Amino acid sequence: MSEAANSIAITIVGASGRMGKMLLRAVAEAEHCHLVGAVARDGSDLLGQDAGAVAGLAPNGVYLVADPAGAIAKSDAVIDFTTPEATVGFARLCAQAGAAHIVGTTGLEESHVAALEKAARHVPVVYAPNMSVGVNLLLGLTQKVAATLGPEYDIEIVEMHHRHKVDAPSGTALGLGHAAARGRGVDHDEAAILSREGQTGPRPDGAIGYATLRGGDVVGEHTVVFAGPGERIEITHKASDRAIFAQGAVRAALWSQDQKAAVYSMADVLGLSD
Ligand code: NAD
Repeated sequence: MSEAANSIAITIVGASGRMGKMLLRAVAEAEHCHLVGAVARDGSDLLGQDAGAVAGLAPNGVYLVADPAGAIAKSDAVIDFTTPEATVGFARLCAQAGAAHIVGTTGLEESHVAALEKAARHVPVVYAPNMSVGVNLLLGLTQKVAATLGPEYDIEIVEMHHRHKVDAPSGTALGLGHAAARGRGVDHDEAAILSREGQTGPRPDGAIGYATLRGGDVVGEHTVVFAGPGERIEITHKASDRAIFAQGAVRAALWSQDQKAAVYSMADVLGLSD
């Protein structure tokens, strides 16, 4: 199926979505892969349009179609940022066609994950609710640094997001706290101090503290601080563009080609798993 021996054939499902268009661009910009299919929902206004044009690029001769089976059949990997229900259907088609399934869809419940596990008996499935290479690297680094440094290093997690965000701390900040707790071998919920005000008393030993900033149009910034005696280590990630999620997904698609059938995470893709 590949146009060159070292180029993998990719289909984007949900190609008309916000992330779908990002993915069309990411595939066009990446080396060692090419687009063979672009699938939109039945009834989409964009059906029949050139995928390059949909992504704001030069036409590429791949047209948006509603029937995923034909596109998936000629693919080495399928990248899927859609809905949990749609993802379950695509998992089945990927398993039948022998195509790796790269899933960025969020909000999967147990039954949806079970469908991915079923497909993963036949093909590699990479599933990650945050496909940013940088955020996953930060998670892995946080766990490693926390494991290496002793408990005399105080861990604080600082995050900033735009003024419209409704929850705090962010899911990624909490993920970082859990990574730090894993590294230290402690229970996150017992160690966590999610916010502070008033007469808090001195900092409890071993606490994992959080601080939340909100303002402007900040896409997402996270810093993990390890404050020890005489030195401080800080690891920071700053997101400024949703393209990072698409680029991470393309990286996962390329990586999946050398893997056995199983479910993988972005930590596996990046070589950060234990
Ligand atoms: P969106 O609503 O813009 O796009 C979803 C697209 O999927 C739509 O175009 C829709 O028509 C299409 N779709 C739904 N069912 C389909 C079907 N059966 N066949 C073909 N197409 C179908 O949403 P979005 O912002 O692009 O996000 C999509 C998903 O990706 C969400 O779950 C979101 O949370 C997730 N997301 C994940 C990451 C990550 O890093 N993992 C990053 C950003 C977004």
